[in-house]
Amino acid sequence: MSLLVIGSVAFDAIDTPFGSTGKIVGGAASYISLATTLLHKHVGLVAVVGEDFDFDFVSLLKARGTDTTGLQIKAGEKSFFWHGKYHMDMNSRDTLVTELNVLGDFDPIVPEAWQQPDYVMLGNLSPQVQLTTLDRLTRKPKLVVMDTMNFWMDIALDDLKAVLKRVDVLTINDEEARQLSGEYSLVKAARVIRAMGPQTLIIKKGEHGALLFGSEGQTFFCPALPLEDVFDPTGAGDTFAGGFIGYLASTGRTDFEAMKTGIVYGSALASYCVEQFGTTKLASITSEDVDARLAQFRLLMTEKA
Ligand code: AMP
Repeated sequence: MSLLVIGSVAFDAIDTPFGSTGKIVGGAASYISLATTLLHKHVGLVAVVGEDFDFDFVSLLKARGTDTTGLQIKAGEKSFFWHGKYHMDMNSRDTLVTELNVLGDFDPIVPEAWQQPDYVMLGNLSPQVQLTTLDRLTRKPKLVVMDTMNFWMDIALDDLKAVLKRVDVLTINDEEARQLSGEYSLVKAARVIRAMGPQTLIIKKGEHGALLFGSEGQTFFCPALPLEDVFDPTGAGDTFAGGFIGYLASTGRTDFEAMKTGIVYGSALASYCVEQFGTTKLASITSEDVDARLAQFRLLMTEKA
């Protein structure tokens, strides 16, 4: 099954109570690609960077199984840059800087070989670019999953609502679900958001796990693995989404039972992501590591010895 990923490929700077990074590689599609290719190899990336980007990282994505033909490199321009600062509890963060740079006028050109993907992961990007990408596909995918953030709700809500009508699954965090729906209760928020288009909704609650609301009113919950140290939560949401859709693409399924397993995979991968700054940890693990963490999750979630 082919899986098309779009999203930011970026430079980040991150401040946490444990330290700060200089400019390091980040971006939603970077995390998604690294996570997804641990589970499934037929992955294509559509994204844009400036000539200042770290091209060793692009080589790493290729080596891990991502086809980067759709990655545009803009001569004379700078990559997207995001600077975030976490508070002591690490569940909340402030965005200090967002410099769109190459993302400001990104035209997502989908290579011909990727115009009929089975699965599509619309990672965090302007909703207009997410829509244009869908318009450029020449066949309806089996499943479209979308991630977004409050930034786009603040500045492009109408476009965001237009994309929502065309996606099957939306993943957002609890704060964003409340902002988008105007409801405090997450159950009510899920009802309101599902009426906007996506049949299925995943609400991520950071260290408190993730909720899956299915198309027939089903609900499933997956905890986050209790970790001794959470070093840097950046990219955990993207990694989660990459694990979720990577698992589904590897099985060819889109039913609720498969999605339940998908969020366990997403949670297992996210638990690795937060253990080191940026993409460092994800870049160093193997599929055996993923299996080991899944086993830990299964122990966490079962009452039988
Ligand atoms: P997450 O922690 O999963 O929400 O994702 C963090 C990643 O999102 C960082 O690596 C950023 O580069 C990226 N990011 C932050 N703001 C934006 C934005 N407005 N559009 C696209 N990507 C963004």
